[in-house]
Amino acid sequence: MKRAEGVVTKIVSNLYTVFADGEYREAVARGRLKLNPRSVTVGDRVVLSEENGTNVIDSVLPRKNELQRPFVANVDTAFIVIAKEPKPDLLLTDKIIVNCFKEGVTPVLVYNKCELAEDGEIDALKRAYSFIDVIAVSAKLKSGLKELESEVDGKTVCLAGQSAVGKTSLMNAVLDLDLKTDGLSAKIKRGKNTTRHVEIYPALGGHVMDTCGFSMLTLVNIPSDELKYYYEDFLKFADDCKYTACNHISEPGCAVKEAVAAGKLDKGRYDRYLQIYNELIESEKHRY
Ligand code: GDP
Ligand code: ZN
Repeated sequence: MKRAEGVVTKIVSNLYTVFADGEYREAVARGRLKLNPRSVTVGDRVVLSEENGTNVIDSVLPRKNELQRPFVANVDTAFIVIAKEPKPDLLLTDKIIVNCFKEGVTPVLVYNKCELAEDGEIDALKRAYSFIDVIAVSAKLKSGLKELESEVDGKTVCLAGQSAVGKTSLMNAVLDLDLKTDGLSAKIKRGKNTTRHVEIYPALGGHVMDTCGFSMLTLVNIPSDELKYYYEDFLKFADDCKYTACNHISEPGCAVKEAVAAGKLDKGRYDRYLQIYNELIESEKHRY
């Protein structure tokens, strides 16, 4: 019995596509894995065996994380795509970053359509988001893709961001790249009109998924007084706040507010933190 380990890239009813040893295999799941629809999902690392010429998923390796809607497993990194046009929605960006840290996903800010950016624009963004990697790319010119590749580095990546920033174009640009090198992606490149289902594609030396799901994009779902823990850029100043539980709102002796005033922390990031904090307070009021 030949055993192999692979990643589930697609599920259509009871048929699983598993990418193992550099190729796609169609597989079915062992009976007990069918009891619960959440036992095997896209992104799962699975152990395959072969029985009478059929690939069978024997077991699912422990998941690193799970994202909901769509339900996918083991996302390592999120490429949060923004662009010159449409104007970057940094409030959305900051919410996605909070969700990433909450779910154990590494956020990377990807500035697409960089050929349209004005001087200094990308540098300013890099300063405001110095706590994560910021990469400038152009799906149109196919530039910056090497940097994207070094971020993927064998991991599973999803693409998040507002509509029209170029997520589909980027996805196609990276799939084209693979097409040139090994021809793998020829049959999986998706058309605009095909029915949407979750699928991940081996690309850039790892796996890339063209969505992160709505739940990464909608409101942050954490208690207001925990929000601060998901602001990595605030943390190094927060140690010096007078109160250990300081939420950096109007408490006296707040080192985070001082850092903003001194230009050591990005004011935009702080203002949007306040906005998200207030949204959370509002939603807590309506809960009781
Ligand atoms: P999505 O909604 O995020 O998937 O965005 P699309 O991939 O559909 O792209 C939206 C628009 O931006 C399309 O008209 C693309 O041709 C255009 N676009 C995508 N990438 C680039 C780029 O790098 N440069 C420029 N100038 N336009 C781009
Ligand atoms: Zn504070």
